[in-house]
Amino acid sequence: MIRFSVLASSSRGNATVISGGGTHVLVDTGISALRIRKGLAECELSDAQLSGVFFTHEHQDHVSGLGVLAKKRSLPLYCSRYLAKDLRGMAPNATMTYLEPGQTVQVGALKVTPFCVSHDAADPLGYVFECDGVRLGYVTDTGIIMRGMPEMLAGVQGLYLESNYDLEMLENSGRPYELINRISGRWGHLSNNQACEFIRIIGHAGLQHLVLAHISPECNTPAKAQACMRATLDELQLPTQLHCAAMATRLPWIELH
Ligand SMILES: [Zn+2]
Ligand SMILES: [Zn+2]
Repeated sequence: MIRFSVLASSSRGNATVISGGGTHVLVDTGISALRIRKGLAECELSDAQLSGVFFTHEHQDHVSGLGVLAKKRSLPLYCSRYLAKDLRGMAPNATMTYLEPGQTVQVGALKVTPFCVSHDAADPLGYVFECDGVRLGYVTDTGIIMRGMPEMLAGVQGLYLESNYDLEMLENSGRPYELINRISGRWGHLSNNQACEFIRIIGHAGLQHLVLAHISPECNTPAKAQACMRATLDELQLPTQLHCAAMATRLPWIELH
C-alpha cells in the first residue's frame, strides 16, 4: 500500500508526503518549513521520520522551505545533478543523491523512478513511487506530455497531475504576452484540457485516485479544473476518485492498494 497527503499545491507552493511500508518521503518543499512541519504533524509524522526529499525542480514554489527544514540535520535530498547546485546553497548539511531519468532508486520500502518533464528549469523531473507493486505517478510543471511519459505512467493506481490553467482565463488574464506564452508553451504548464488529454491516454479502470494539482489562483479555479476532468472520467466510464489539491489546506491521506 502507498498513501500520500498533499500538504499544499498551487502556483504559490507545493509539498506532498508519500508513505509506503513504513518509509516516508516528501516531494518538494515549496511552502515554509513551519507549514511543512504542521502538515506532517497533522499526518502524525515529524520531519525526523523523513527518509528523504525528492525534488521536481528549483523554482521557488517547489524549494522555498528547504533552507529552514534542512538547517539542523542532514536530510537526504534526491534531485537531478543540475539542481543539486541550487539545493546545496540552501542545505549545506544535506546528503545528496543525483537521479538519472529512468533509473530507479530504493529508499527504504519505496522504489522511486524519475523521468523527464518539459519545463523551464534545470533538468526537471516527474516521478513514479512504488511499494509492494502499487504505484503513484507524480506529474507537475510540464508544458507537454513528453514521449515516454505514457509508458512510464501506464497502469498507475494513483496519479498526482498538474492542471494549472484554464486557457480562456489565461488568455484573458491581462498578463504580458510573453508570460502567457511561457505558461502555455512547451516549457510551461499543463492546462485543464491537456490534463484531460493525458487521462484519455493513460486512464484505466485500475486508476483509483487522481489528484489535480498546481492550480493557478489567477488563471484557473478548482471548480473549472474538476469539471473538465469529471467530464473526461465520466466519458471514459472510469471509477477513479477525483480530488483537487488546495493552496491553503492539506488534502487528507489518500490510500492506494
Ligand atoms: Zn516550475
Ligand atoms: Zn511550480
